[in-house]
Amino acid sequence: MRHKPPVYEATPGRAGPPRYNGGVATMSFEQARACVIEKVRQAASPPPVEEVLLHQAAGRILAAAVHADRDYPPLSRSIRDGFAVRSADLPGEFEVVGEVRAGERLDREVGPGEAVEIMTGAPVPPGADQVVMIEHTRREGARMATDRPPKPGEFINPQGAEVREGEEVIGPGRRIDYATISLLATVGTVRVPVYMKPRVAIIATGDEIVPAGARPLAHQIRNSNAYSLAAQVVQAGGLPLILPVARDDHASTRALVDRGLKRDLLLLSGGVSAGKYDIVEEVLAEFGAEFYFDRTLIQPGRPTVFGRAQGTFFFGLPGNPVSTMVTFRVFAQAAVELLAGRTDPELPFLLSRLTRPFRHQPGLTRFLPAHLSPDGSELTPIDWQGSSDVAAVARANAFLVAEADRESWEAGDFMPALMK
Ligand code: AMP
Ligand code: MG
Repeated sequence: MRHKPPVYEATPGRAGPPRYNGGVATMSFEQARACVIEKVRQAASPPPVEEVLLHQAAGRILAAAVHADRDYPPLSRSIRDGFAVRSADLPGEFEVVGEVRAGERLDREVGPGEAVEIMTGAPVPPGADQVVMIEHTRREGARMATDRPPKPGEFINPQGAEVREGEEVIGPGRRIDYATISLLATVGTVRVPVYMKPRVAIIATGDEIVPAGARPLAHQIRNSNAYSLAAQVVQAGGLPLILPVARDDHASTRALVDRGLKRDLLLLSGGVSAGKYDIVEEVLAEFGAEFYFDRTLIQPGRPTVFGRAQGTFFFGLPGNPVSTMVTFRVFAQAAVELLAGRTDPELPFLLSRLTRPFRHQPGLTRFLPAHLSPDGSELTPIDWQGSSDVAAVARANAFLVAEADRESWEAGDFMPALMK
């Protein structure tokens, strides 16, 4: 994916039927994402901190810098099984004067012509400055001979080579992965300061929406967006709170928006297109909302709205289920991650070879369901019926990303893919 500079400039108003103020701003995919990151980063203060035990810390966001409690390695260590010797004696014959294994230390000085048998991980005894691998030695009783040349420091990991005592080993704002867990355990941090998860209110809107457990009439639709959004919020490190479904009238929507704005972030689905009953923007405006964009040059997800009211950021995501999922993934997820205290929200694109030709009408960045081969090398578009086709996205494991400024791709061309 070519990244445009992270500055954004709103292109003026959009065509189409006027809404409460005739449209705020249209942004390209890159502009809209940069706008979300910039606005939330500017406004967000570090979240409150809590402490969790090490085994509960995976996936959380580290809230403080962690420092090394001692040098790593704490002593110079052998990284091979073999013999610790003085390099100046090499090559030659040695008298084996002792043995040291991991978990032990030998304080006896290794003198000229002497060797100490040493195991991987064991501290190198004083005097020795090279380890000769066991494979390169001949042993006869208490004597050892080797042809290896002198190479001071060979197969020794010196004290403090990895980290010095007191040095910062990792900073705040990082998502704790298994390697971070290992690092925290290594330096003895068993109570881990992490940021509290942001509370994200979710409001689905629409008179046609019924609960997922209901038997809908032919003209009704089960509420899937509230659940997909909640799952995406959890994945992004937030705490979802699903509010009741808002009816397509001002009173109902207003009452729920009022509740939602009391959380750290508000997500709405539906009610942001140009229809007569798409009133979400009007209601948000009644709360004094500032709108940063209300139309994006992406598909699915054109009418996505982003703004802030009463200090709380909100997204009005288009209601078609695939539009809701895609716009969360490419825009709202970054806001959740930043509110969770992460320094760098992620949206990695993988370049992969298309297995068949692809064309689209340039002007919009398209995110379409696709199958990425297990090794990530091949990308195959999945047939789908448009942005209500949840089944196609459920079968997919990625979205192909058709850039707005290119019209066609041949089989074998590289195309960016976004993991679902
Ligand atoms: P809207 O953006 O409000 O015009 O909604 C567009 C379409 O998305 C609707 O006609 C519904 O079919 C569908 N939709 C809206 N909200 C939901 C929801 N919560 N769950 C599933 N589908 C929805
Ligand atoms: Mg609707």
